[in-house]
Amino acid sequence: MRDHVKLFIPGPVEVSPDTYAAMSAPMVGHRGKGFQDLYAEIQPKLQTLFGTKQLVYISTSSAWGVMEGSIRNLVKKKVLNCCCGAFSDKWYDVSLRCGKQAEELKVEWGQPITAELIDAKLATGEFDALTLVHSETSTGVLNPVEEIAKLKAKYPDVMFIVDTVSSFTTVPMNFDALGIDVLLTGSQKAFAMPPGMGLFTASEAAYERSASIKDRGYYFDFHEFKANGEKNMTPSTPCISLIYGLRHQLNKFFAEGLENRYARHARLNALVHDWVKRNGFEFFAAEGYRSKGLTCVKNNKEIDVAKFSDLLKKRHKLLIDGGYGKIKGKTFRLSNMGDETDETMGELIAALDDCLAAL
Ligand SMILES: *Cc1c(COP(=O)(O)O)cnc(C)c1O
Repeated sequence: MRDHVKLFIPGPVEVSPDTYAAMSAPMVGHRGKGFQDLYAEIQPKLQTLFGTKQLVYISTSSAWGVMEGSIRNLVKKKVLNCCCGAFSDKWYDVSLRCGKQAEELKVEWGQPITAELIDAKLATGEFDALTLVHSETSTGVLNPVEEIAKLKAKYPDVMFIVDTVSSFTTVPMNFDALGIDVLLTGSQKAFAMPPGMGLFTASEAAYERSASIKDRGYYFDFHEFKANGEKNMTPSTPCISLIYGLRHQLNKFFAEGLENRYARHARLNALVHDWVKRNGFEFFAAEGYRSKGLTCVKNNKEIDVAKFSDLLKKRHKLLIDGGYGKIKGKTFRLSNMGDETDETMGELIAALDDCLAAL
């Protein structure tokens, strides 16, 4: 029996012992060659992963830091917050708290945001930025980012800010081909690292917009990131131990091969989907728009979700999520992000069967 409760919640996810071990490398000074070499070593790998020639930045914050930073750096006139669940809804709140004009584009939870809906809003000419969550982690919806990004050609002055926190490295991402302005993610989801690190990249247009905005603060100033990034450094003392972990995880990703990594996430996600169907459950997310790194199961059988997850923890030392916010108990969520394998997902599924039968 394992010595700890293993996480199958959609973030943070389980961190492998080899990743923790990699993080315990001796400290270096962040203004010295040791750190610059570390940054320079991982930069090309990050660029490949993001599909960009732009610099990729490491932020010592959780993803929300970069999200707030994106609003402060890029919104001058008014931002359109595309809302389809708890995380995307929160973007609206954050925009207002940054003192920006903002408007929600709302769809029912479980439904995707479509390009047509966004097009109709942007056509008003009111907006100079939009926020989109790629994989809405509360509902398991994967929004059609490729189709939405095509609108950028029609609205070049609108900054497209995309949160890929729970989709990044589960499906391919190509920042330059999408032509969007900010792509951001965090360490504790599919990267399978401890929380505390945000990662992002930005377009030339984003730097231009940002240069014209005065009150963008210091900690998340895109121009501070750029000036330091060009020297393989970060604006302030970074989470160096997490960066050691990142170097290790990136080496694992490339040893596996990115295509194999995406295929593995699709395959493991399909195992969960099979379990859902086999047991008469339904999906909360609309068909054709489902995340590859997590599954939001609709509790159409009206089981006692709290008891179910309690049993999983007591009997198997596995933690699943009992539903987020207003859909707590009406749904539950299972993650397949990170370092999981056919074998470990098989263990989860056997445990789910065991506990479902025991309810
Ligand atoms: C987890 C998550 C976040 C939150 O990130 P923090 O690390 O808590 O800042 C934001 N957006 C999405 C889509 C997420 O899944």
